[in-house]
Amino acid sequence: MEKSPSIDMQAGINAARDFLLAMGLSLDSPNLQDTPRRMTEAYRELLSPRRFQLTTFPNDEGYEELVVARSIPVRTVCEHHMLPFVGTAHVAYLPRERIVGLSKLARLVEFYAHRPQVQERLTRQVADWLDDKLHPKAVGVVIEATHSCMTLRGVTAVGSTTVTSTLLGTLREDPGLRTEFLSLIGLPQHR
Ligand SMILES: [Zn+2]
Repeated sequence: MEKSPSIDMQAGINAARDFLLAMGLSLDSPNLQDTPRRMTEAYRELLSPRRFQLTTFPNDEGYEELVVARSIPVRTVCEHHMLPFVGTAHVAYLPRERIVGLSKLARLVEFYAHRPQVQERLTRQVADWLDDKLHPKAVGVVIEATHSCMTLRGVTAVGSTTVTSTLLGTLREDPGLRTEFLSLIGLPQHR
């Protein structure tokens, strides 16, 4: 997996202070004094993925049904505004020779979420990674998220969610399997 970015905390704190001053804020009040540091810490956390080993195992039992991890939390920032977007991911695959620990599917989502993102790319990266590493018969990733850049600013579309999906392999080709996947994750089947 790619390396995490190197983060210069002091440069971040200085820049956050300059930014808040440019926004016309005074940092003299005790409440705001330490805000540049807290802002920088917050973004450091959002942009630093935890390292993890994605170990795969042979599919010794010959399991040949969909493996579905539902409602994995997604927390990331949009690369256009650096504002958070949050939601849930549903990740599924249909095994061939290799399987992966279920908790690793959540770690995979988390890994790709800890960087400036667009929802479409995040969805695709999770799916492509599984496809590449497991060579499964099918991969399905659906992400539902609320973008604060849509709900807090601009059109202020409060309550609107964005759904993106990537379906690969037999999930693309087989309508029966696709219906099963969508009903397992609780999405309407006529999309
Ligand atoms: Zn945005």
